[in-house]
Amino acid sequence: MTIRSKLTPLSTHRVREIEEYASSVGEAAFEGASVSLNKILNNEGIDLYCDDFGDDFEGLLEFHEDAFIIFLNTAAGNIPTSPRGRFTIAHELGHFFIDEHRLAISQQRMPSLGEYANEDLEIEREADLFASRLLLPSNEFAKKLKQLPEGLKGVISLSQQFKVSIKCAALRYLSEDQVPCSLVFRSPKKQIKWKLFSKKMWNAGFRSIIAEPIARGATDLVFKDEESEWTTAPAKYLFRLPDNCHANVIFFEESIKLGDYGVLTLLRSNEEHLTSLAEVLDKRWSSV
Ligand SMILES: [Zn+2]
Repeated sequence: MTIRSKLTPLSTHRVREIEEYASSVGEAAFEGASVSLNKILNNEGIDLYCDDFGDDFEGLLEFHEDAFIIFLNTAAGNIPTSPRGRFTIAHELGHFFIDEHRLAISQQRMPSLGEYANEDLEIEREADLFASRLLLPSNEFAKKLKQLPEGLKGVISLSQQFKVSIKCAALRYLSEDQVPCSLVFRSPKKQIKWKLFSKKMWNAGFRSIIAEPIARGATDLVFKDEESEWTTAPAKYLFRLPDNCHANVIFFEESIKLGDYGVLTLLRSNEEHLTSLAEVLDKRWSSV
């Protein structure tokens, strides 16, 4: 996945290493249609302690008298069986399974992480990556993906089957790149909070999203609380494309409200269309 961020990205090697490790742990604990976090906690002898800890942290991994404990803050909305709680536990398991994190915590070189958690920290990004692969392990995810409808319907179904949030399932869907797509998250005031492009989209030249959702498009309709399964629009109305680029690739626009946080939009085309667009962009850039 190509992340639009000013942060130094994790190296490809490191990403692959964490993805493979987390997937193998998740696959070994797969029960029914999802990963059993209890099984992992039991196997590793980690205690889970859930309580109201105020607004200090989501989760915390601590080392006490030769044993690891995960503290889960219910005040922050973390119920162990909920998608949010499961992600928080999986994130803390990332700190446990990744050698450098676990050693630093057990040797007290790194304080327990939750209180200081800053999502920009490399260790936090590594634990998030671990969590998403642990909960959506590669083989199981690829298997399910083939059986599902394309687009947001498929993402919602994935989130239900794997017991993860829609955002988590959507990010994983994008990273798989089976369907070239882009994700945009807008605040309730319609400001773009973040945007991501799948690798194929990025390679085809997509870099930027139009600031305002297009009128009567799926995003606009969701903001107006109107029903919409999906709408379609040519790329140039959804993305900022290079000047003089007339590639009229059609995109599907699908959106969903994520509670009070904002609206998530999935923009997808198909590979055939993107290939033709990539050729148009290539010609333009090589002639500059
Ligand atoms: Zn953390």
